[in-house]
Amino acid sequence: MHYRHLGSSGLIISELVYGNWITHGSQVEENAAVACVRAALNNGITSFDTADVYAGGRAEEVLGRALKSERREGLEIFTKVYHPMGEGKNDRGLSRKHIMESIDNSLRRLQTDYVDLYQAHRYDPETPLEETMEAFADVVRSGKAHYIGVSEWTADQIRAGHQLARELRIPLVSNQPQYSALWRVIEGEVVPASRELGIGQIVFSPIAQGVLTGKYKPGAAPPEGSRATDERGSTFVARYLREEVLERVQQLKPLAENAGLSLAQLAVAWVLQNDNVSAAIIGASRPEQVSENAVAAGAQLDGELVAKMNEVLAPV
Ligand code: NDP
Repeated sequence: MHYRHLGSSGLIISELVYGNWITHGSQVEENAAVACVRAALNNGITSFDTADVYAGGRAEEVLGRALKSERREGLEIFTKVYHPMGEGKNDRGLSRKHIMESIDNSLRRLQTDYVDLYQAHRYDPETPLEETMEAFADVVRSGKAHYIGVSEWTADQIRAGHQLARELRIPLVSNQPQYSALWRVIEGEVVPASRELGIGQIVFSPIAQGVLTGKYKPGAAPPEGSRATDERGSTFVARYLREEVLERVQQLKPLAENAGLSLAQLAVAWVLQNDNVSAAIIGASRPEQVSENAVAAGAQLDGELVAKMNEVLAPV
């Protein structure tokens, strides 16, 4: 494994973060979930990403149990707040009330006294940003979170949050956006703004939810047991399951083979080439996937290969 600073902060995280959306508490049995966490640890992954909303809190619980016997100081645990956790009018968003209640609930489920990174899962247009950032500042000052991050915020939202965090003297260090060779939206505005502010990207779905492994073949049914056959997961991966996309992905195969990498490794290595990316969050339904993908940490892609990949995927 290789390790990087999270943005310009002093916190060092693993280049690959293991994330448990869709899988823990839902798609995969607990035994398989724990096996994936063990595979992550065995491959040098020390950073773990979850959220209160994943499987209605069960994903945090599974991760908490899986990591319970580990030395806490050797881990970086990230979670998030924002999405609805109940039917109540305040069971959602980034109000002071919801943030203060949510951090305690997350810590209880994760069986830890603090998280290393507490993230706003989305921007909340219904709560004044000042209220949100002051609540985050109190969470940091109480020692329940060491750093603050955001997820899928626009460049302007990141700038405004960063300004308030500076005034409050709390570390807003990261953004967590979707980013892969098939989804490059952040390159336009978010990455340049973040670079300027010292904010790092912790990117999600680096292999486009499995699509960049090449296992979804054009004109064929999805492989049994894959996310595309999971009742909930299929609704998310569906956005990529277009013939044109799947054909282009197959065209990447010889490029990966020439580089001595699998397609999954090539895709993860591709996001890690971006110097504003602090880490890629990989998901997995099986431990072998973690071990395979972990090889991408530290893999160097030469400029010619990256240019060819971009050319193959450009029209999709
Ligand atoms: P990935 O793009 O890494 O997709 C992971 C899925 O792809 C696995 O669960 C598995 O699904 C399949 N896969 C992985 N490796 C292989 C392999 N080597 N061969 C074949 N199939 C493979 O990321 P995710 O979409 O899972 O997202 C990762 C994490 O990012 C989440 O757990 C979460 O922590 C975070 N996230 C954050 C979001 C946010 O809004 N902030 C939104 C989404 C994710 P299967 O075997 O079932 O096909």
